[in-house]
Amino acid sequence: MYQKPNQRLINQTCIVTGGSSGIGLAIAKAIGQEGANVLVNYYSDRAAAEEVAAEIEASSDCGSSMIFKADVSKENQVEAMFAAAIDKFGTVDILINNAGIQQDAPFHEMTLDQWQRVIDVNLTGQFLCARAAIREFLRRGMQPNISSALGKIIHISSVHEIIPWAGHVNYATAKGGLVMLMQSLAQEYGRHKIRVNSIAPGAIQTPINESVWSTTKGLNDLMKLIPYNRIGQPSDIGGVAAWLASDESDYITGTSIFVDGGMTCYPGFTENG
Ligand code: NAP
Repeated sequence: MYQKPNQRLINQTCIVTGGSSGIGLAIAKAIGQEGANVLVNYYSDRAAAEEVAAEIEASSDCGSSMIFKADVSKENQVEAMFAAAIDKFGTVDILINNAGIQQDAPFHEMTLDQWQRVIDVNLTGQFLCARAAIREFLRRGMQPNISSALGKIIHISSVHEIIPWAGHVNYATAKGGLVMLMQSLAQEYGRHKIRVNSIAPGAIQTPINESVWSTTKGLNDLMKLIPYNRIGQPSDIGGVAAWLASDESDYITGTSIFVDGGMTCYPGFTENG
């Protein structure tokens, strides 16, 4: 059922890394529908990013959008992305630290390049963007008429921040690292009224896991891991992110919100009591 979006993020600016696909795309649109300005970051798919930005422009009465190509693992490109957002919109209020990749291999066959690239994008990229965001929040100062918080950072983590994942050790290690990045930042900057949280998705239907959900067997096997018995959609994450960026969640910091259809509820025990 269609419901008119709220306008909870008017006069705020949000950077969404990896906003050209999947979860980031849905978050960019959800945040845009709340009235925010949105920088849609992309890495390789400029056309997709342009489409997202155009949709935000068309759907929002007050927010504007821009695209920016940057590899989040590269310090100079992250700095340039934040400078571009500040140049166009004046400041940054919300960071959605979403860009992520998988490069899977049995651990004994994993190359150093596979290990390093996933750590660089999924963990170091989130460090670089969070640091740039916090520097901007501190420089700008409080604007009580805009938000109760000085700034908001949302890391897109995974259920694999707590569920070990054979064959994906680089990915699970990066997501595990995000727990301490997120909680330590929440602890260090809470007194500045910066909120830092993670959303930990379960299986969401995006290009990153197409090899699993695109076959009947893959989808059936997946359902054994999901008590709620459906694969997640990017919009399931978009709505939560928009709320978590808004003042409705002002007392939430330093936590992971699992959006996983119950995947973290040990579904293997369902018939085992
Ligand atoms: P996706 O559809 O493959 O999208 C990945 C996005 O990241 C794309 O926009 C891509 O940009 C961007 N990206 C890749 N490398 C980048 C880099 N070096 N710098 C900047 N952007 C880069 O995947 P997704 O499923 O939406 O995943 C988004 C996040 O959710 C990831 O952090 C992932 O770990 C997490 N997650 C996903 C699931 C799931 O089931 N789908 C579950 C848990 C967590 P281009 O397309 O422009 O190259």
